[in-house]
Amino acid sequence: MRPKTTSEPAFRHLSARLSVSGEPVQLELEVPAGPVHPVRLLPSLQAAANAFVDAAEKAVQRAGLSVSCQKGCGACCRQLVPIAPSEARALALLVEELPDERRKRVLSRFQDAGTALEGAGLRRTLLPGPDLTKETSREVGLSYFHLRIACPFLEDESCSIHPDRPLACREYLVTSPSGLCADPAPERIETVPMPVKLSTGLQRVSRSWEGQAWLPLVLALEWVEEHPEEPALPDGGAEFENIVKSTLAAAGKTRSAS
Ligand code: SF4
Repeated sequence: MRPKTTSEPAFRHLSARLSVSGEPVQLELEVPAGPVHPVRLLPSLQAAANAFVDAAEKAVQRAGLSVSCQKGCGACCRQLVPIAPSEARALALLVEELPDERRKRVLSRFQDAGTALEGAGLRRTLLPGPDLTKETSREVGLSYFHLRIACPFLEDESCSIHPDRPLACREYLVTSPSGLCADPAPERIETVPMPVKLSTGLQRVSRSWEGQAWLPLVLALEWVEEHPEEPALPDGGAEFENIVKSTLAAAGKTRSAS
């Protein structure tokens, strides 16, 4: 079923200068204003996340390291990827608009992923996006990784929806040899420190918007089928600023200009 969205929203310009990981970040964004469904906030959140990730990448380069992620290495795309409900709705729309043959292939991969999770007894545990402690998160993450379920959008070991990938995918980069990512031993993997994670900020507010903070990417279509009505927000711009400000505050950053 096609998720319901608001009509095209009006936009307002948002300008902010920040410092993240010791690197300057200049945000110049068009943000939806007025009543809007959460899914409409995603392009602005993705643009802001890209800027924060760029800053984090520059910081590791300054420290003499380099990001080892590259096209053709899809090891991390077999991890449990937590996405916000609005991101699930965006992916459902994206899949619906794919050309017939490709849509069938992607739908079949989603189906296989759901079946594999069901067989492992993880599907009903993960679909409501349970609250996880650091320990249970590691335990569940490893159980999931051992199933070797490739993301339905992984093609030729590359992301086939790169411009539209979820926030969590944007924010996951490593500096350790890429081959290590195929081995489920997180202590051997050096991730790029990401002080400002909008994926976490969006998931935090999603709990009040949708009654659920997150769900696994591979169960996105199933979740949207079960939750076709997306709640409307009274003011998209205010919600966007709230997500960014609360995420910056959690990271100990403050906006220096706007
Ligand atoms: S959306 Fe793309 S980057 Fe994210 S897990 Fe899937 S294939 Fe990988």
